[in-house]
Amino acid sequence: MATIVETTDAAVVTPPPVKQVKMLIDGEWCDAASGKTFATLNPATEEVIAEVAEGDAEDVERAVAAARRAFESGPWPDLDARDRGQLLYRLADLIEENLEELAALETLDNGKPIRDSRAADLPLVIDCFRYYAGWADKIHGDTVPIRGDYFCYTRREPLGVAGQIIPWNFPLLMAAWKFAPALAAGCTVVMKPAEQTPLTCLRLGELMIEAGFPPGVVNIVPGYGPTAGAAVVKHPGIDKVAFTGHTETAKAIMRDAAATLKRLTFELGGKSPNVVFADADLDAAVAGSEFGLFFNQGQCCTAGSRLFVERSVHDQFVEKMLDRAQGRRLGNPFDLETTQGPQVDKAQFDKILDYVQKGDDAGAKRLTGGERHGDKGFFVEPTIFTDVTDDMPIAREEIFGPVMCILPFDDVDEVVRRGNDTFYGLAAAVWTKDVQKAHHLAHSLRAGTVWVNCYDVFDAAAPFGGFKMSGIGRELGEAALANYTELKTVTMSLG
Ligand code: ADP
Repeated sequence: MATIVETTDAAVVTPPPVKQVKMLIDGEWCDAASGKTFATLNPATEEVIAEVAEGDAEDVERAVAAARRAFESGPWPDLDARDRGQLLYRLADLIEENLEELAALETLDNGKPIRDSRAADLPLVIDCFRYYAGWADKIHGDTVPIRGDYFCYTRREPLGVAGQIIPWNFPLLMAAWKFAPALAAGCTVVMKPAEQTPLTCLRLGELMIEAGFPPGVVNIVPGYGPTAGAAVVKHPGIDKVAFTGHTETAKAIMRDAAATLKRLTFELGGKSPNVVFADADLDAAVAGSEFGLFFNQGQCCTAGSRLFVERSVHDQFVEKMLDRAQGRRLGNPFDLETTQGPQVDKAQFDKILDYVQKGDDAGAKRLTGGERHGDKGFFVEPTIFTDVTDDMPIAREEIFGPVMCILPFDDVDEVVRRGNDTFYGLAAAVWTKDVQKAHHLAHSLRAGTVWVNCYDVFDAAAPFGGFKMSGIGRELGEAALANYTELKTVTMSLG
């Protein structure tokens, strides 16, 4: 059984103070109308960090009214597009000035290692706001050469009030992916952060007010999914819902959104195939596959959770991967040496250990891990299963934890067929030095993103989203602007 390396006495970052636990409505920080609060926990210690205002339908009602007012009157609709961009640039600067505090707050609430919050989450958040700041004054229509004596042109107008519902795995980054294109396009927003991790989104709200966004343009209502989240989805004053989370939740949202025919964009789950050919740089493939699965405690919708390895290098690959999994450093996420923190909460922790049991029961070989680490916090040892078959639950269902399944394969057609044998289609990766094979796989795998000789490379400019039941629509890049604009055709007689 694996011995997990305990963290030593390396530098440990101090957790930050919690500055904001209320909800943001119409530029004001307020309690829930019901007066209720809910606890957000530190997943590394299971202790309560803070009590946060618990929004429900009544608070959503007030937030939507404020967002509608801000969309229809006041300074926001009259603001020049370039000035909207300037607000987003100013926000990015403020986030950069407060990077250390926000990174530490993310680590406190989510449990992710501080080295990841600092080096991955926060830089991507800042980049996302700057990228969309640049788009604000570049969203334009066309002139259209229609028949007859007419002048015909199109305009891209802001869609209206966007309801945005985000998950807990990258709390601040998911907020940035949602807020930035919506605000660049001129929408106003009602945001519902995940109940497990509301703190960084609330702090971001403070920075948004400081940056100068007018009252009502951004509203943040923390609370639970079936209450606050469902109220956002059902409210007729909301024009569009953007949701990131589980596929089953998306089905409920689609049903709830039907009555008001809301525009919907979804970024959902995955069971991504990660394919390693025998001709790959094996050490790079091992390192990239470790990152592709274990990064963020395995809590990534893109996790390369079906790792197909060509049979001739399978055993060698497994041996190297075992070494790396056992070398991961679990422990205090504020320790700069820590590479793996706790899972976000007890529900996720239990679900993952349940899948480990299912893997054992189905006859897969558990090479390492699969147990709780320590006796406090939701830590799960890095886990590797071999002798996995395609029909096992661990090979078919999203585990969202540090559980790797390694499956051997023999040829290209076979691995394409098996890679595509899933109702998900979020991401895929290929490791090979053969250019033809790389392109063939990149084109044949039915996934929204395919990485070649790398994994989890994200950029605000590159569109991201799912085929099949992994999503609807695309976030990031120019593509995301379409989610927040309506296309209007204007035809004027010249006769
Ligand atoms: P998880 O089970 O990991 O929390 P979810 O997909 O349930 O993943 O949650 C993602 C986000 O969706 C969270 O902000 C959550 O509160 C919200 N949510 C959950 N259920 C609903 C629902 N029925 N309607 C709207 N939002 C929901």
